[in-house]
Formats: sequence, C-alpha cells, structure tokens
Amino acid sequence: MRVLLLCPPSSFTPPGAPPRHAPHVTAIVAAALQEAGHDPVVRDHHLGEPTLERICRVSSALQPDWILLMAADDNRRAPSEVLDLIAERLGSVLPGVPLYAFGRVHAARARRVMEAAPQIPGFLFGEPDQSVGALAHALSSGGDPCDVADLITRGPSGELHTSGPSERPLDHAPTPAWDLLEMGHYPFSPHQETADRLYPVLASRGCPWSCFFCEVQDQPPWVARPVGDILRELDDLRTRHGTRSVFFADANFLVDESWTRELCEALLEHEPQLRWSCMLRTDRCTPELLQLMARAGCGSVLFGIESFEPAALKASNKKLDVMTAGPAITAAKEAGMEVIVSLMIGLPGDTPEGVHRTVDRLIQLEPDFAQFFLVQVAHDEAPEGGRFLSDWEGAKHDFWGRLYAPESFKTRAQLEALQRQSYRRFYLRPRYMFKRVTTLLASENRSYELARMVRGALLASRLALSKGRTGSNGARDG
Ligand code: SF4
Repeated sequence: MRVLLLCPPSSFTPPGAPPRHAPHVTAIVAAALQEAGHDPVVRDHHLGEPTLERICRVSSALQPDWILLMAADDNRRAPSEVLDLIAERLGSVLPGVPLYAFGRVHAARARRVMEAAPQIPGFLFGEPDQSVGALAHALSSGGDPCDVADLITRGPSGELHTSGPSERPLDHAPTPAWDLLEMGHYPFSPHQETADRLYPVLASRGCPWSCFFCEVQDQPPWVARPVGDILRELDDLRTRHGTRSVFFADANFLVDESWTRELCEALLEHEPQLRWSCMLRTDRCTPELLQLMARAGCGSVLFGIESFEPAALKASNKKLDVMTAGPAITAAKEAGMEVIVSLMIGLPGDTPEGVHRTVDRLIQLEPDFAQFFLVQVAHDEAPEGGRFLSDWEGAKHDFWGRLYAPESFKTRAQLEALQRQSYRRFYLRPRYMFKRVTTLLASENRSYELARMVRGALLASRLALSKGRTGSNGARDG
C-alpha cells in the first residue's frame, strides 16, 4: 500500500526559517512500514509554503491508499486547529482514502487532540514502530482497525474508543528511512555539526522529568533501546549513508547510568571511529562517566541548564540543582569535549534582572557555545503567573506553540531584545573571540572549523539583529 506520511505545518503562516530537525519519528514510521512491505512517501510541509491548497494538491497527486497525519514528531507539533482543517480538506479532495493521525504521545494527549479536532477519524499513538505495521495490515487486508493496539477511533455518534495498549517491548527499532527525506534541508546548528554529514539517532526515548516547557510531558514513558539494536542502527547508517558522526537526539542521554555505561563500553569496542554528541542534565554527570563518554567518541555535550536562577528552575519544575552546572561543565571540558549550554529567557519565576545574572554566570563558566531560547509551549492555557504573547507559530529556528512570558516581562519586544543582548554578551567578547581563533589555528581541520565559525557568526548576527520570530522551545537536555 502507498502510505502518505504527511508532516503538517505548525501554522499556515510560514516560519521564519526552515526547521533544524528532520522529522525523526516520521522516518521511523516510514521504516516500520517498509519492513511491513508497504510503500511510504513523506511530505514535510514545514518546508515550502504551508498553505492548505498546496497540501491538498501535493497529497492528491501522490494518490495514496491511506494517509497518516504526523501530529506530533520529535521536536515538532501541530495545533489541533491545523490538523482538523487538513483532515477536513483532504476528506473532500481524497474521498474514501482512510486518514489517521499519529503522534509519539501518550493516550491522554491523543484523546485531547481527537476531542479538539473532530475531523480526525482515528489517532494512533505510542511508539512509532509498534502499531503502525498492524494498522497497515488491517487496512490492506480488510481487517478491523479497532483491533489495533494504541489506537483511538471515533464511533458513529462521535464517541471515542481507545484500544488496548501495545505490549511489545522496544527490542527492535528500524533504522529511520532517511533516504525518503532530503537531509540537506535540515541543517544542524553550527555548534552541533561535524566535518561529515551528521545523522540523528534515538538510543532512548522520552524523559522521566517533567519540565514545564518540555514536549516530553505528552510522551510515553522513558524507554531505552537494547544496546545491540543501537549498534545495528549505527552499522546500518555507516553502510547506507557512509556516516561516521551521529547526534544522539535522546531528550536526555543519561537517565540510567548503567545503560549509558553499557552503551559507551559497546561503542568503545565496536565503533572506535564513531564521533558523537548528546544532551544531558548537569546533575547526572560524574567526571568519571564523562571521561568514559569521551573515550567512546563523544566530542560534544549540550547541557540544558535553562537558567541559573533557582526560582525560575523551581517554578519551571526543572528540579535541577544549579550548583551542579559548574562542576559538570568543568569536567566535560577536562574530558576534552566541547560544551554547549542551552538557556531559556522568560521562564516562570524569572525576571529581566535574572536573565542578566544568568548570562553573567554563564560567562564565568566559559562553555564553548551557548543558545538562548524564548519559551514557546503547546499548552492550551498559560501556566499561572504568566500569559501567552502570541498565537501558535513556527519559530525562526524550529518549533511550535505559543510564546509565553511571566508577568515580569512586559512585551514580546522586550523578550527579543533580551535574547539579542544575551547572544551579544556571550559571543561578542574579545576573550571569547580570541579563544575561537586560537581553536581554529590549533585545529587539524581548519577549513571545517573556519566554515563552522562563519556559519555560526552569520547565524548569531541574524539572531542578534533580527526582529522577527525568535522563539524556540522544547529545549531538551535538555
Ligand atoms: S527539559 Fe530535559 S529534563 Fe526536562 S523534561 Fe525535557 S528532556 Fe527532561
């Protein structure tokens, strides 16, 4: 069967820039369909003009046997209104073609989407590689889709029916079908990229924490893949795509220390040439573990610290002791890794003065790179103490949701000015620029370092100077 995997835009207004993240979950669903003998095609409407007319034209030209509307992917989401409009319009241009939504979300979230989007007849949720083959089988063989696990369907009077949960352990995840996507359309940030083409790998999924701004709150529980299955995917990526570099896109690479250790030891033994990077919490690291990761090929870590203001972290439910940040950054640098710190401006409980103090502390700790995001969330209502400053929108560098700010921040313009100022304060310091030039001169691959510096400078100037949409979200350790 020809299955159209349709990645909807987060808004019908074009985002300020193309997305940074390839639709990872969509690529896993496509691979699962291929393994089940079907013919998936992917159309990512985050790229190009996100109009209903174009979505319908492209979809009907493909003549799919059925359609999966990818409602929630890794690092992206579409609001229910957008999903509902697309489902309604496709129902009229492709009558009789079954349409389901899919999201790597838990059952309660899927149900809320179904309630808010009455034109969606069914929603498949949970892990992307578990039920999609069963749904494809039911649709191609005339079986009853209601028997498929992890599926919500709408009855004749509009009532919702949720099927039983999938009981398959996550012992095999197909290698994402990256060949169905144009990977060049999803450029990593300069501080994350490597000298060769970088591919994302999800060694684990989800996160047991529940920070206020993070998309993982709507996802199934944290699950780690068996190490042998991850090694198989790495081998596959090398054979099919020739890559020696991967980004472990796990929301949090260090949830279960024994699993991380087992993975690092396996990489040391079986993938000695592999270079990789990942995202961590500073309170999970020890110097010894960071040394092991570095020996296993980890060249760069991103710490999702979000703020150095304890009140903002507490109000955001981050549950991070900010005193762990300094030792973790120092230990990662001593292990020889590049360190990226991710921060957010406008968290609940934060203030403009708090943002300045956070940047002061950041500068003292001297990570190699920093990124500053405004807070965009997919919540229906703004958490107490704050309000939304925008409707759903795509941001300049990703994502989705409404721009949020606590009462101590007056306007969107103020948030954007603070963001620009933070970038300027961190990157345009003579000491920092001297360090980058020294790194460039000491590098064995100067042309790559130079290209990375130029791209970084262009991006930083665009972020520092522009006045467009500057939010982002879902910063995961993330
Ligand atoms: S921000 Fe990080 S720690 Fe918090 S929920 Fe997201 S991934 Fe987990």
